[in-house]
Amino acid sequence: MNVAEKINHKKVVHWYRKDQRTDDHEIISRLQVTKSLTCFFIEDPKSNMEHPLGFPLIHKHRKTFLQESLDALQKTLKKQNIQLHIFKTIDELMASDLLQADILTYQKLCGTEELTIEKKVQSLFKDSISFQDFTLVNPADLPFSVAQMPPMFTAFRKKIENHAVYQAPISIPELPESTISSAMQGGEKAALKRIATYFYKQQGLSRYKETRNGMIGQDYSSRLSPWLANGNISARMVYHFIRDYEMTVTSNESTYWLFFELLWRDFFQLQLQRHGAAFFKKGGIQNRPLTLQNHEKKFWKWAHGQTGDDLVDANMEELKTTGWMSNRGRQNVASYLVHDLHVNWQWGAAWMEHLLIDYDPASNWGNWMYIAGVGHDPRPFRKFNTVGQAERYDPNGEYRRLWLK
Ligand SMILES: Cc1cc2nc3c(=O)[nH]c(=O)nc-3n(C[C@H](O)[C@H](O)[C@H](O)COP(=O)(O)OP(=O)(O)OC[C@H]3O[C@@H](n4cnc5c(N)ncnc54)[C@H](O)[C@@H]3O)c2cc1C
Repeated sequence: MNVAEKINHKKVVHWYRKDQRTDDHEIISRLQVTKSLTCFFIEDPKSNMEHPLGFPLIHKHRKTFLQESLDALQKTLKKQNIQLHIFKTIDELMASDLLQADILTYQKLCGTEELTIEKKVQSLFKDSISFQDFTLVNPADLPFSVAQMPPMFTAFRKKIENHAVYQAPISIPELPESTISSAMQGGEKAALKRIATYFYKQQGLSRYKETRNGMIGQDYSSRLSPWLANGNISARMVYHFIRDYEMTVTSNESTYWLFFELLWRDFFQLQLQRHGAAFFKKGGIQNRPLTLQNHEKKFWKWAHGQTGDDLVDANMEELKTTGWMSNRGRQNVASYLVHDLHVNWQWGAAWMEHLLIDYDPASNWGNWMYIAGVGHDPRPFRKFNTVGQAERYDPNGEYRRLWLK
């Protein structure tokens, strides 16, 4: 039975997770078939927890983006007379009268912690249905089972592209006025504004492949990741606008490349679903013994941008100040921690989890694993020469001067 049939004439309670939007939403877009709808969100139990090294698991940069996203969602839902309860803990849900609903609906996520809470929440309701809209490809439409997914990205991508079955948005919103603003604010409207600006107004998408290794400013890449991580916009909606752009503006290697990156995103999501807890272990999904050390002094120098390597230090400073770092920067600082300082990559991944406003378990830990050589990588020793990288990507030192006072 599909979602629309399951919720037909039912008293529905929807659990918002990383689907924080109302357009192209599995339940809100089908609101009229329900008897009634109430929504809730449960705060991440990690919000008030600390890493063993003494830093909070979630920094205020990420908390702020999430809060903006929830505030915007609550406001939009209110206009449709739908209540969104924000619970601090699962106990608050248990004490509420939401449990009397006919059915619980929720987005399926593949992280290990996400699966644990899912089991608990689901068990509280008499009936439930979930949907898989976090990825571009619905795992049910894959040309292989998740257990048998190709271990390398290139083979995975080729199979997906040959099969070419991608999710389509349920409803397509009108894009808001584009505004050139440097702030990255949580929420659905801000995500759509970013599409309006980066795609259509600046036509940055036409040049994406040439600019994507940049580090300065807002517009070298799409910057959609924080909104994608919270589901303020879905990957299928981004894909829809890429196709629209290709039909109405231009189609070139750059427009293809943004789609290509969305496949990387799906690859890591599915790899996490396939390998579960191994994703977060030191030996990674290869279960390889590593000699990397828990060297606190070296780690803190890296984390606070005091290694003496200008490119690494500038990037770590940007991350600490803003909660953002370019993909070029992320690859370099991760490689430096692992291959130059020989420090345990899990600490680096945890530091980025703490700070990044676009933090996503599959993308963060998957990329770290890949660089540490414990994911499935045809080139197991992925060391970046940070001096050479600085010469190539910051030839005049402008980026480094910006962040190193
Ligand atoms: C060490 C490390 C940690 C990372 N941690 C995260 C993370 O926590 N969350 C996150 O979303 N991305 C992460 N990435 C991937 C990538 O750096 C970011 O997705 C990208 O920089 C976000 O900027 P953008 O939206 O402008 O990307 P664009 O270049 O415009 O790409 C468009 C979208 O494609 C996806 N994408 C692009 N590159 C990757 C990639 N390598 N892996 C997975 N998805 C990708 C993202 O959703 C991104 O928004 C990490 C990469 C590294 C090397």
